[in-house]
Amino acid sequence: MLTIKNLHAKVEDKDILKGLNLEVKAGEVHAIMGPNGAGKSTLASVLAGKDGYEVTEGSVDFDGTDLLELETEDRAREGLFLAFQYPVEIPGVSNINFLRTSINEIREYKGEEPISAKDFMVRVKEKSALVQLDAKLASRSVNEGFSGGEKKRNEIFQMAMLEPKLAILDETDSGLDIDALRIVADGVNKLKNEGNAIVVITHYQRLLDYIVPDKVHVLADGQIIKTGPKELALELEDKGYDWLTEKA
Ligand code: ADP
Ligand code: MG
Ligand code: MG
Repeated sequence: MLTIKNLHAKVEDKDILKGLNLEVKAGEVHAIMGPNGAGKSTLASVLAGKDGYEVTEGSVDFDGTDLLELETEDRAREGLFLAFQYPVEIPGVSNINFLRTSINEIREYKGEEPISAKDFMVRVKEKSALVQLDAKLASRSVNEGFSGGEKKRNEIFQMAMLEPKLAILDETDSGLDIDALRIVADGVNKLKNEGNAIVVITHYQRLLDYIVPDKVHVLADGQIIKTGPKELALELEDKGYDWLTEKA
């Protein structure tokens, strides 16, 4: 689903990603952990094609497509989804219209007819229930006046609605209380299937009690410096990152 080779990227002339390698197969959930400032959000932004991030070396294959060649919109149409660490408010654009437009953009790209009003509403009902998002929030402006937890749940709601091939969740767990964390994790677990892949960026082992990853990676100073099974997260919780960064 995703093969990243020797990825180098800079922001404002500063090298942030310094030869990053990562492979994620369909049907897998991977966790990326690592110290603050390591480049985790930068990786997510580079994959999404955010302005201001310059790739200087390396390649990213997304399900057979050269991801770096695509505009941000086409990356999304190809099935890439990014849940933001800091979800933005979009006053004047209702969640519902935003999602229907997004779904239809993806369908048009695939040569499919727009979703019917009935099918869309069925999907809204089903997916908002999945993340226990109040139906009223679905019709409000995107994230406007939402609490921190509601914003994060709304990210997962969007992910559920758009059914991406690859979802990257950037610290969706931070700022969530334990109940919201369970709901988010539950949503992710229910969306996981053989045809998609999910990359969870997290600071805390806590989330991984509920989302069991196939692999855990440590990102430090712009590189993946260690990859291990889910137990690695527990080891990191116990020992921190210094023993790894010193070794690296
Ligand atoms: P993490 O998500 O692992 O905490 P980030 O990817 O957010 O780390 O940041 C990695 C480094 O890149 C930090 O030193 C940060 O200050 C820098 N950085 C990230 N985005 C920008 C930006 N838009 N402008 C300037 N520096 C940035
Ligand atoms: Mg950070
Ligand atoms: Mg970050």
